[in-house]
Amino acid sequence: MKRDLAGQATLVTGAGRGIGAAIARELALQGSDVALVDLGAFDDAERVAEELRALGRQAVALRADVSDFAAAEHAVAEAVGTLGKLDGLVCNAGITRDAVSWKMTEAAWDAVLDVNLKGCFAFCRAAAPVFRGQRRGSIVTIASINGMRGKFGQSNYAASKAGVIGLTKALARELGPSGVNVNCVAPGFIRTEMTASLPPAVVERAVEESALGRLGETDEVAAVVAFLLSDRARYITGEIIKVDGGQYI
Ligand code: NAP
Repeated sequence: MKRDLAGQATLVTGAGRGIGAAIARELALQGSDVALVDLGAFDDAERVAEELRALGRQAVALRADVSDFAAAEHAVAEAVGTLGKLDGLVCNAGITRDAVSWKMTEAAWDAVLDVNLKGCFAFCRAAAPVFRGQRRGSIVTIASINGMRGKFGQSNYAASKAGVIGLTKALARELGPSGVNVNCVAPGFIRTEMTASLPPAVVERAVEESALGRLGETDEVAAVVAFLLSDRARYITGEIIKVDGGQYI
């Protein structure tokens, strides 16, 4: 198997389960060492790290709240210290706290913006000096098609993901002159714990919306993230790639 990420080191946030865990596995299969950041799912992140070590990769699980600037800086320093370097960053950690806007609490608004947008920025900010210093690096942020089209009951989530898209484009401009690529993957409905608790009617609507007539799988997102981190994507930056089976054409 061709290993596009051989010899690389990548930090993935929210890597304990769901899309983040699938990304960590795919990167390791393609040859990258991986630092797996998580908070509530830290034990899961440790188990995934163990799997990756069994594949012959270096892997370390790090406990951090992504929305904490100091914790982000500490996690990036730990990743560099343990893996010996850092070539890639995947800002994947995210949460939902759905409610219609007129019933949205301040706590639900703040929690989603803190994790999804501030958390993404905190890790990009922490990794930027490393990538600028070596004049090389690749960042992939994870948004959502709902940040592009909006979604009933998700004003906080849609705003946070639209923010991630704007952030990605701004960072691509800021870091491009230093040889750093910054891109975004915007998934549609992917089968994970985040979506497992949604009402069946919501799931059915997502299937109907999709041109391919099915939900997405975590490895289908991970494959695109791995491509964007690889040298094959070196002339792509500031790009938003939907992985949604045509849910939002
Ligand atoms: P998931 O299964 O809920 O996994 C999210 C991971 O992020 C969990 O391990 C979670 O751990 C971690 N996390 C949450 N808050 C954190 C924090 N403050 N600090 C560190 N880690 C934290 O979600 P998923 O479905 O895989 O989603 C992954 C990303 O894809 C998210 O950004 C999501 O918005 C995006 N996305 C998902 C879908 C979908 O259909 N699943 C669609 C579009 C976009 P704890 O919560 O236990 O701390």
